[in-house]
Parts: sequence; structure tokens; C-alpha cells
Amino acid sequence: MSTPRGPLAVGIDLGGTQVRAALVDAQGAVLARAATRTDAVGGPWAVMQQIKGLVGEVTQGVLRPDLAGVGVSAPGPLDSEAGMIVCIPTLPGWIDVPIVALLKDALRLPVVLENDGVAAAIGEWRFGAGRSLRDFVYITVSTGIGGGVIADGRVLRGRRRMAAHLGHMTTAPEGELCSCGNRGCWEAQASGTALGQAARDRLASAPASSLTALGPAVTAVDVVAAAQAGDAFACALMAREAELLGIGIVNLLHLYSPEAVVMGGGVSQAFDLLQAGITQWIAAHAMPPFRTVPVHAAALGQNAGLVGAASIVFAAAD
Ligand SMILES: [Zn+2]
Repeated sequence: MSTPRGPLAVGIDLGGTQVRAALVDAQGAVLARAATRTDAVGGPWAVMQQIKGLVGEVTQGVLRPDLAGVGVSAPGPLDSEAGMIVCIPTLPGWIDVPIVALLKDALRLPVVLENDGVAAAIGEWRFGAGRSLRDFVYITVSTGIGGGVIADGRVLRGRRRMAAHLGHMTTAPEGELCSCGNRGCWEAQASGTALGQAARDRLASAPASSLTALGPAVTAVDVVAAAQAGDAFACALMAREAELLGIGIVNLLHLYSPEAVVMGGGVSQAFDLLQAGITQWIAAHAMPPFRTVPVHAAALGQNAGLVGAASIVFAAAD
């Protein structure tokens, strides 16, 4: 463990597949990490025990006074003000769970809760690609699309702190069915899940593509790999993906007038394949004063979720 600077916080990234934990210092450095497979069958109580175990694992040898608290980032919708997870679609039984109260009791530490998109936005703001910016929008593009908005030097919260469900703005009224029940949400059009679906839907028209061998098993990861290898069909899908992302980003530019848009999530690992297309879309469709706003890849990479979760502890203490 390197020498920690300033107070420490534990970040917990609660996901449908994994619960991850990290001990993070006040400069955003990850000092220790641990992860386990989410006990989805055991329900909230079992996962509380998992979180307690992970906190113990990453804080070995840390004196309690050095620990500012535990930040939990989870998929929404959640009520971060009430410390309540409203539901997690990928975790059955997680309905109206007062996770902050339960963890405070179990850990005897301050606990804060944040939507995962907003937590990652705060992490990038404090420690990553949004550092020192007064206005920026963070988007995470992976299984779905989420994010957070930093406006006028503060986190945009909204009613019940539910602002910035960016993935559910409608970008195509007759578009794909979204997990939320609407049609044509940005996430249903442009997420990694949607990219994989677009590939499968069009595969029959591309017999020469290397993806054809994978058949119905094709995912966004395969599309990215094939595009990186120069596969024409996959490159066309990525060009379309860049446009679909561009449509939403132009809306965000007009809404929030950020100094930059920062993109994280699994799909952002292919950012080099997307950046030119996104930039072209912005240049062609944003109003003139918005056309030069840059789009960057997130700087925290694989650590974004964990550092983001820890950073909400530091943000709460500011
Ligand atoms: Zn939706």
C-alpha cells in the first residue's frame, strides 16, 4: 500500500453481477480493492453481509479516525437523499431497501448513496477528465446509458435527486423498446446492448463479415473487436453508433452548455473508433456556438465506478 494522502473513503460499486470495493485516498488513488459475485439469490440482507465483508477486507490496518466513510454507488432509480434504493432491475427483491440506514448500523461509519452515473460523474469531476471544469456532462455507455451533470460548479440534483437520467431522453419516437417501457430512449438506441442488437439484426445482410461466424451470440464487444480489425460491416455499425451517440450529445450540449462531454462505460473503450463520428455529428447538428465543445474519454477507466463511489464521501464532506 502506498502512503495515503488525506482522509480515506471506501467506495462500493453495487452491480447486478459483482459487488466491488476499494479503499481510496483524498487524491483519488486506489489503495486496495476487493470484489465478489453479487449474492442475487440471497437478497438485500445477504448482500449487506457481502458489503460488510468487503469493507473489512479493504480497510485492514486502517485506523477508524482516518476513514471518512463509505460511499455506495448503485443503479437507479434510487433516492440518494433518503438513502433508499427504490429498485434494481437486475437484482430481484431490491425494492425500497433503506441501504444507508442498514449499512450505518452494520458498519458504524458514515454512509452515503448515489446513482452510479452521478457517482462516476463526481469521480471524473474531482479526479479525472472533468477536473477543474465548472460545467460538464458525464455519460456512461455500457449495458445502458447513464450519467451525471455538473452545472455552475455543482452537481445537478433535481427533484428527489433524480436528475440526469440521460439515457431515457427520447431520441427516436418510433425507436427500439427500452427497459423503462418507453420507445426510442437514447439508451435503447445507442447503448452497448443496442449496438449488439443492431449487429444481430443486420448480420444476414453481411455474409462477408467476420461476425457472421458468431451468429446470434454477437455482442457489442465483438463488434468493437471486428471494427478494430477493419471489418467493413463492424466499421459501419460503429459509424452508426457514433451518430446515435451524437444525437443525444447534441441534446445535452443544448440543454446544459457544458465545457466538455466526458464518456465512460464499456463502449468508451472503443472511443478512438467513435470520436470522429461524434465530433462530425456535433459539427453538423449543434447550433453554431456549441459546435466546438469537445468530447473526451473518461480518465478513470476501470476505476471510475469505485473512485466515483468513494468520491461521494469526499463530496459530502466538502
Ligand atoms: Zn427508457
